[in-house]
Amino acid sequence: MDVSGLGYLDPGTPTEGADAARTGFAIAFGYQPDLVGRAPGRVNLVGEHTDYNRGLSLPIALPHATYAAVGRRTDERVRIASARSGEVWESPLDELGPEQPTGWWSYVSGVLWAMQQPDQDEPPVTAPGVDIFIHSTVPLGSGLSSSAALEAAVAVAVWALAGQNGYEEDRARLVELCVRAETEVADAPTGGLDQAAALLSAPGQALLIDFDESSAFDVDLHLVDHGLELLVVDSGVSHALVDGGYGSRRAECERASAELGLASLRLATLADAGRLDEPLQRRVRHVVTEIARVNQAVAAIDARDYVGLGAIFVASHASLRDDFEVSCPELDAIVDRAVSLGALGARMTGGGFGGSAVVLVESERTGAVSLGIAAAFRDAGWAPPRFLRVTTSEPAGLV
Ligand code: ADP
Ligand code: MG
Repeated sequence: MDVSGLGYLDPGTPTEGADAARTGFAIAFGYQPDLVGRAPGRVNLVGEHTDYNRGLSLPIALPHATYAAVGRRTDERVRIASARSGEVWESPLDELGPEQPTGWWSYVSGVLWAMQQPDQDEPPVTAPGVDIFIHSTVPLGSGLSSSAALEAAVAVAVWALAGQNGYEEDRARLVELCVRAETEVADAPTGGLDQAAALLSAPGQALLIDFDESSAFDVDLHLVDHGLELLVVDSGVSHALVDGGYGSRRAECERASAELGLASLRLATLADAGRLDEPLQRRVRHVVTEIARVNQAVAAIDARDYVGLGAIFVASHASLRDDFEVSCPELDAIVDRAVSLGALGARMTGGGFGGSAVVLVESERTGAVSLGIAAAFRDAGWAPPRFLRVTTSEPAGLV
């Protein structure tokens, strides 16, 4: 099927991405950078709104990635520029932190600030004065975690420049730094899924993250061997994590666990949900069933039961739509159309209120499914969605 008119969003190769970042750096700052960090966006297969409830998630790293070209300065200042923004943001190193006005650069300055904060187990790291230029092939604000890709690309590069052990041994610590950057400096209340996916994923694998134990395991996906692929559809409806409904859902979960006298909703059961008033009852039902679906998904993948995996996607979407109420008509339409055109399963992915959906589909049907979704959007009078054919990729590292 000819879908060339649709166009799949090209991730480019790591070499191309790093070259683009180096070129942008040289134009912005007039010299060559010392090194380039790369970190992938992610798509979560199942386990949504579970991270901040100490539950389970199952993301993969995308080939679409963010590249941070970093040059060391001789003074204690920071300059940050991005191909996505005309402005260069500038600050002395010792003024970075939660008190500064926030903007897109906060995800970057937040990492530099977080490195320098005291940590229970580890001494703080002295961040060097740096110039940073950002290039990215991850769509921004589409639920594919451009924000954590940005943080992690900067973190590995600056970590290396600061002369630390090498990020390989410090990946878990970098996850924490990136979470602090996003929650404390960029003021976006995320729960750690995105940063773990960017820094801990492995090619060919999904990452089973247990947020109660702070542990992560690789799950062999084998999709390609079975003629399957993942199609990501960006609805184009912008979700705003910083001021959107994400924070209110998170607050509802905290209220529910307090009412139940539980340390977190990881410990909740369906019977517990039944003891709460609406809407908390449905919120808790989503969290409890979604955590169970992650375990079911891993079992289905281990058994190569991809029909079963698709059914889990569909059940997860229904739960996010009806119980957690974070879907929207565009995401529902993507899921409905994909399934009616023979995809094994589909669901919204990411925080919701817009953003993207992920479709599990036989590779030979991807074109037909993409065209059908595009037609559904046209018929509804919506702006065309964007499509990404995705495989797994490398976690954050230097290019
Ligand atoms: P998502 O992580 O799903 O893409 P978020 O709302 O969490 O959505 O993060 C998107 C924000 O991250 C953007 O609005 C911008 O502030 C920042 N950002 C991400 N990538 C870049 C980039 N390449 N250049 C500048 N800012 C970026
Ligand atoms: Mg984000």
